[in-house]
Amino acid sequence: VCVPHALKAEKKDNFLPCVPLPKQECSICFEKLKSDTVRLSNCTHIFHKQCARQALQHKAQCPVCRNVVDEPFGCCPPATMTVNLRCDKHCGGFPSIPTYEIVYNVPAGRQTAEHENPGVKFRGTVRLAYVPATVHGRNLVLRLCYAFRRGMTFRVGTSLTSGLSNSVVWASIHHKTVLAGGSFGWPDPNYFDNVNDELDHLKVPKAQDLP
Ligand code: NAD
Ligand code: ZN
Repeated sequence: VCVPHALKAEKKDNFLPCVPLPKQECSICFEKLKSDTVRLSNCTHIFHKQCARQALQHKAQCPVCRNVVDEPFGCCPPATMTVNLRCDKHCGGFPSIPTYEIVYNVPAGRQTAEHENPGVKFRGTVRLAYVPATVHGRNLVLRLCYAFRRGMTFRVGTSLTSGLSNSVVWASIHHKTVLAGGSFGWPDPNYFDNVNDELDHLKVPKAQDLP
């Protein structure tokens, strides 16, 4: 068993902080702008952070000038992602290859404006996912880290599986949550193609284009 390498990814925001002029209004809610004011990266329009988050969730463009915001992002609450390289775990079909074990921890909290029931508490979750430590696997983990930092991995909503509302659930990026067997486990010859397509659709850069 080798010592796990831990790669910690913190969720970050994609807005530039900015100070509004006195009496300046948010172009989304028309309330006066106060402390939590942000500017979008590709234009000069400024909004309440919560308003901008909610608007951009539907369309990645400025609601005023329609400039496309190139940094994609979702609405995952504060969370951590840890990647451990496990030499003692193997994905089905990769018997002699170590495994990237991804641990997502999304603690319970209270929903904010970008969620479906603002002000209401939500259930947190800890999820594990597995990727073989091949070149394709490494590239996928880099893309998953990018997606996670932009809040795209989980959302707050109603779980299709459990029917529970106000819960942290997987958003649209599929993960292998079982080392071997079943539709959520390895092997799956189409998984890398499918998940990379999902990431392409979300405008997550290709691994070779990531910083
Ligand atoms: P959900 O049921 O609302 O489905 C959202 C998406 O996740 C769908 O695309 C679905 O295909 C996919 N998905 C469903 N079950 C999955 C699974 N077992 N592994 C990987 N992807 C899955 O999503 P949800 O409420 O987030 O729940 C998904 C499942 O994860 C449930 O069965 C839940 O009980 C389970 N779960 C897993 C862990 C873990 O550590 N892996 C922890 C808690 C719950
Ligand atoms: Zn704008």
